[in-house]
Amino acid sequence: MTDTPVTCMRARSNTRSGACRPSIKANWGNNETFGLRKPVVEVFKTRHRASWYQGQLGRNDFFFNVLADAIALAGEPSGAFAWAVYIDADPACGQIGGAGIPGFAVLPANDLRGLVGHSNRPPCLDEPADLAGICRWVGGLGHELGHAFGLPHPDGCETGSPACPSSALMWLGFREYPSTFLLEEDKALLRESPLFEPIAPLKPRFFAGHSCDERTRWRCEVEPAVPWACSGPIRLDTPLGHLR
Ligand SMILES: [Zn+2]
Repeated sequence: MTDTPVTCMRARSNTRSGACRPSIKANWGNNETFGLRKPVVEVFKTRHRASWYQGQLGRNDFFFNVLADAIALAGEPSGAFAWAVYIDADPACGQIGGAGIPGFAVLPANDLRGLVGHSNRPPCLDEPADLAGICRWVGGLGHELGHAFGLPHPDGCETGSPACPSSALMWLGFREYPSTFLLEEDKALLRESPLFEPIAPLKPRFFAGHSCDERTRWRCEVEPAVPWACSGPIRLDTPLGHLR
């Protein structure tokens, strides 16, 4: 068995000067955005085997074991950065896989499989495969990044209240991405975050053809004036470009 690679993507606070000025931004719908540090993706090999992260099989063992390795590489959460950590390891049945805390989002191997259109591997033998499509995994990153930016689950959702806005990104809306939304209180929190700053409105032409559902795959283009745009639907044999 080989060492387990960990892929990290770090959002950093936006600055207008310096070598680390972000060149890729993502619009959250309220003209506030976060920047991505260069390189956007950093790859590390940890000293642990994939099975090690399951620990003693406790519900939170996987998450906290990944988090411990991530903190060793990236440092304690400081508020200056938020990391999205993809790890090529699977949680055991009953363990939390994808999750986030302020400063870190952790996403297990199934998210990597899903993003490239591969079948996921259900942790439990009697569990069906998640066939929600690529965008479910994009939405999953959005949800966990929300936690990394300090967003909670909506009021009432964890207690099963009928008032729970179940289609919100920070609850089950990630499965329907991009047909989901941030609550106004989420946007208010993000506006207060040092990782977010106002941006000029994106040019409408870059949203033309933007499509993402289970029948499509994304091809994203990077242009100097505009961070990213996606076009679709496209043929399944078209190589994937930049995924976010
Ligand atoms: Zn959550």
